[in-house]
Amino acid sequence: MADFFSKLVDGLKKTRQSIADSLDSVFGDYSEVGDDFYDEIEETLIMSDMGIETTSRVMERMKQGILENHIKNPARCREYLIKSIAEEMRPDPHAYDFLDEKSVVLVIGVNGVGKTTTIGKLAWNMKNEGKKVLMCAADTFRAAAAEQLETWAERTGVDIVSQGEGADPAAVVYDGVASFKSKGYDIMLCDTAGRLHNKKNLMDELAKIDRILDRELPDVHKEVLLVLDASTGQNAVAQAEEFSRAAKVSGIILTKLDGTAKGGIAVAISSGLNIPVKYVGVGEKKEDLLRFSAEDFVKALF
Ligand code: GDP
Ligand code: MG
Repeated sequence: MADFFSKLVDGLKKTRQSIADSLDSVFGDYSEVGDDFYDEIEETLIMSDMGIETTSRVMERMKQGILENHIKNPARCREYLIKSIAEEMRPDPHAYDFLDEKSVVLVIGVNGVGKTTTIGKLAWNMKNEGKKVLMCAADTFRAAAAEQLETWAERTGVDIVSQGEGADPAAVVYDGVASFKSKGYDIMLCDTAGRLHNKKNLMDELAKIDRILDRELPDVHKEVLLVLDASTGQNAVAQAEEFSRAAKVSGIILTKLDGTAKGGIAVAISSGLNIPVKYVGVGEKKEDLLRFSAEDFVKALF
């Protein structure tokens, strides 16, 4: 995985520019550590979409480190900031346990955030880890949704269960479950339509799928991954709150971090909601999904 870190650094290029450039100038401009210096760091973090509450915790912890270690040189404060941010993103040691078990992964999120693309990338990742992967085209709401997933199945060389537009998503999942059981797959990745504007609809649909899974695959791990578009900033935070009220979200995938997203959003989401960020998307190709590591992320961002 030698190129993992460089890929992250590369993917976060634009994101890094927005936050690191501002911080560079703060750390470079001040000759002493004081209120003005702290205020400017705080402002930069808030501007990076870190959110007010998360920012204030990060600031407190950073100041404490600076005080305890009698740091007088602003440039040296950077490492305390980085450490404080990394601590804020408490990693979950069990985040990837589902990969070691037979699992069904439901991928949810509003339209356009990158669900279908992410399933393609996940399939590619998992296949390369030696898993036997099945895709399930349970986004039957929009025309072309199933075809888009079929293209990804072809591109990544994994199998797919699909019934096309207008089919009952639960029926597609049912089909997928039958294949899963009879053909010895390790992981089934289910695309969904995820219409959030109608929370009841989403909940009903997920409940229906849940019932099938509980009945047909009681011993299989169920993973619900919420996809959020990092470039939508605080909107993504609002979606995460909304979805986690409607479903048992077990992890978050932040997409489009290769664009102009402000990196603070990853910190805000992983610390504020207590749902771990498990993967980040840094491009549109099958290789462009990375497992999330808070430490690497913070290092790559600064
Ligand atoms: P869905 O409606 O949630 O299924 O979203 P799609 O998978 O169809 O993706 C919507 C658009 O976002 C497509 O053009 C994708 O290529 C693009 N996309 C998805 N993930 C990423 C990413 O990590 N980076 C970039 N730059 N584009 C992405
Ligand atoms: Mg889709």
